[in-house]
Parts: sequence; structure tokens; C-alpha cells
Amino acid sequence: MFTIKNYDFQTVEDVKNWIGGQWVDAASGARLEVTNPRHGKVMTHVALSAASDVDAAVQAAKAAFPGWKATPMKERAQVLYRAKAIMERDARDLAWLISHENGKTFEEGLASVAKAVECLEFGCSLPNIQTGGISFVSRGITCETHYEPLGVCAGVVPFNFPMMVPMWMLPQALVAGNSFVLKPSEQVPIGASMLARIFREAGLPDGVLNVVNGAKEVVEALCDHPEIKAMAFVGSTKVAKLLYTRGAQTGRRMLCLGGAKNHLIVVPDAEVEMTSVDILRSFTGVSGQRCMAASAMIAVGDVQHIIDAVVAKARALKLGEEMGPIVSATSLKRIHGYIEQTEKLGGKILLDGRGATVTGAEGGHWLAPTILEVTAEMPAYRDEIFGPILSIVRTKTLDEALHLQNTHEYANGGSIYTTTGSTARYASSRINAGMCGINIGVPVPREPYSFGGWDNSKFGHGDITGIDGYYFWTKPRKITTKWALQPDATWMS
Ligand code: NAD
Repeated sequence: MFTIKNYDFQTVEDVKNWIGGQWVDAASGARLEVTNPRHGKVMTHVALSAASDVDAAVQAAKAAFPGWKATPMKERAQVLYRAKAIMERDARDLAWLISHENGKTFEEGLASVAKAVECLEFGCSLPNIQTGGISFVSRGITCETHYEPLGVCAGVVPFNFPMMVPMWMLPQALVAGNSFVLKPSEQVPIGASMLARIFREAGLPDGVLNVVNGAKEVVEALCDHPEIKAMAFVGSTKVAKLLYTRGAQTGRRMLCLGGAKNHLIVVPDAEVEMTSVDILRSFTGVSGQRCMAASAMIAVGDVQHIIDAVVAKARALKLGEEMGPIVSATSLKRIHGYIEQTEKLGGKILLDGRGATVTGAEGGHWLAPTILEVTAEMPAYRDEIFGPILSIVRTKTLDEALHLQNTHEYANGGSIYTTTGSTARYASSRINAGMCGINIGVPVPREPYSFGGWDNSKFGHGDITGIDGYYFWTKPRKITTKWALQPDATWMS
């Protein structure tokens, strides 16, 4: 069993690029330091690539594409079956690595591996569920659809789920027959390099998956590269919006998922224990660094007893064991800024997590759970903070609560907590969010249901996972056929 001792600091080998089946440094030799968030020490270095490295990866992917496209879909899916078995075999080692680079607890690391495996399973199922379609559209004439791969595709991912978010893209894109260039977050590059190893061991031909590490310059080079046919991005709204516009200007297909401010609306008849446990887990899970974390609680009417229960549970949480650190010193400073600003603006601090530390990991970026009572005008409610902060806003009625949710710029997730069916139905059919929950703290749909928000939480059409992902990474060819040589059989006959 893992204990806090297993969180001791360790360095790991430098992270290189994976291009055409070779581990290579950035052509310039440039590297970045990668810091372990739990100890605040440098644990490795990652290649800091440039446009020329991107081009090398794209050329490798382009060369691999025809062979991979010609491989039957069922065989392509077999690579995913083997990758799934490898991930399950190595789940504990992978979870440790994720925990070490990202700061998640070991259990959170394990959960994210499990979710990545579930995404792979969906990819494995594609040859069975995606058979295109054919029908007689008129006498003697059929129409059919074939979904064909696009070519070289790209994905850019954030720091908070180093293995799971790439798995929102790779299974569908690869089974569909595309080759791929993945750009991990420079803050947590190890997870993606592990994925490259896993796919290689699973038999993916060299060049079909490439990993190019680096920062903004790599992303822009991917976005502008003429050979890249489609690109998915997951990260902050600011960057999602920029890339969506930039990519679309050159005519490529873009799907860009952004930030969030997920509302949990709590009404007085909510069940106290379940509601308070769910809210705690939602805003403290992965230290609040989840795009589906409950960052705003809308307290409708007299729910003081539920607020008190959340505060008591949050106060009792064991920092370092039940919740990890913030990813970086920069993020921690930014989060502190929101607490200080709330104090200045007259908001209440119901629980203050500043100054907390963990014995044996004093250099880490620690912040214990923090609960603020704010108004809807305050930045702590309006902005995505991305830390273990719950901002509580009070309203008198459910309609006022729904109005808050529905006029917020983000529309990723939202939940209602109630024990009354009609209240649940009323709210869940009115919440303006792509992913709604009834008595669910983190309303992430499980496969095969797809993941994706609305408004400023997503730019582009369709969701990123599920069957929508498959359609994003393919183009439909429609074939209309008349085999019987009948002069009277026409398109409309
Ligand atoms: P980020 O936007 O800072 O970085 C994401 C990726 O974009 C990284 O690979 C980074 O190198 C690159 N990048 C950063 N700045 C860039 C720029 N100016 N131009 C081009 N590329 C740039 O996001 P992050 O801090 O890594 O992750 C946290 C954010 O991701 C939060 O906003 C969170 O809500 C969001 N997120 C959203 C979802 C979702 O499904 N909607 C899922 C996970 C995370």
C-alpha cells in the first residue's frame, strides 16, 4: 500500500521528443526544468522544441499515414486492446509517475489511469459500432457512407490530466486511421512519454504517434502547419479561443475545450451527508485543478446546515494524504491573489487554507481547502481559479440560482442537489451547461457518453469523446451506386 513515504522526492530521466520511433532532443538542444509540485524541486528536464521539431514530427506522421490508413480498422483496434492490457498491468507505476509530476495523490493517479483505460475501451469498440451505413435510396440505387481518416492530426493537452486527456483524442483518432502529433503540457511531460512507450510496446508502427514537447511556439507551429488536417486542444479558455480562431483561418478543423466555473446548486431539501461529502470531494479533488471541479456553490434559501457540514469536513481533510499540492509556485501565487482580493472586497473567508504545509514536503506548493462567501460580482465567483477554493454565493430562490449559472461565461458542468424529483427535473433541464448532474459532484459523463461543455468552455462543434470524437477525426465519403443497368432507375425513381 502506498503511504506518504512513497511520495519522497525522486528525479527521473530527461524527457525527449518521440519522433518517427526515436527518442530525440529538441534540435536546438534547449530544455526546460520540470518541478515536482510536492517538494518544489527540479525532478527532470524536458525538450523545449521549436517549429523545426514540429515539422520533423509532422513529416514522420505523414510518412506513416498511408500504411496505417491501409491497415484494417480491426487490426488498428488490436493495438488499443494491447495498450489497455499494458496500462492495466502498469497502473500502479503510471499512477506514481502521474502523482510525482502533477502532485495528485496516488489514488487520484490510479483513478486517472482507470479513466484513460476506459477511453481506450471505447476506441477498441469502434470497429463494432462504426460500420458507416448503406441503404436503398430509390429503386436500384444505394447510398453508403464511409468514414475516412483525415491524415496527420494534432492534439495539445493541459497539465491536470497528463495521461487521461490525451486518451480523449488518441483512441478515436488512431482507430480511425490517422497519424498523430501530441503536445503535452511542459509542466507535466512524463505522462505523454509513457503513453508513447505503451503504444510502441502495443505494436503501433513508428511514426503513427509522435510526441513533441515544448510550449507556445510548438503549439503555434502545429496550428499553422499546412499538413495538419485537424487539431484538438484542451486547456484554458484564453488559449482555446486564440487557437480556434487561428486554426480556422487556415481552414483546418479545430475543437478547443476551455475553462470552467461549475456550479453546484444546493436547495434546502438536499440530503446533508451526501451533499457535503460530494461538494468537498468535488472542490478538493486534484486540488481543485479539474475542469469539472465544483468551484461555485449556489446556496438557495436556508442551507446553512449544509455549508457548516462542508466547512467541517474541509477543515478535517488531511493535506498531503487526501489532497496534493498546487501544480506550481506561479499558480499558488495566483490563487492566493483571489483570497486576498476577496478579503479586500468584503467577502467572508469561512475557511482559510493559506500557510498550510506538509511535514517532509515543506518546499511544496501547498494550500489547504479554502471556502469563501462572496457575491456574484466578485472575481472569486466570476473567474476560474483552478485551486481548492469553493466560492459560495447565496440566493433566495432556485430561479435566481439558475439565472446565475445561466449568465456565467462558462458552461462546462452544473449540478442540482435536491431530494425532490420535480426540482431535479426543473433544474437539470434549465442549467446552461454541456454536462449536468443531479446529486453528482463531478458530472463527467462516462464512456460511451461524450464529454464537452458549451459557450466559453468549448469552441468548435461536437464533443471530444464518444462517437463525436470519431466524427471529428474523420471525413464522410458518400457513395451513390446504380449497379443494375436500368435506364429508368434514377436518383429519384
Ligand atoms: P493552458 O491553456 O495554460 O495550457 C494548455 C496547453 O496550451 C499547454 O500544452 C500549453 O503548453 C499550451 N499553451 C499555453 N499557453 C499558450 C499560448 N499562449 N499559446 C499556445 N499554446 C499555449 O492550460 P493549463 O494551465 O495547462 O490547464 C488548465 C486549464 O485547462 C484550465 O483552464 C482548465 O479548465 C482547462 N481544462 C479544460 C478541460 C475541458 O475539458 N474543458 C479539461 C482539462 C483542463
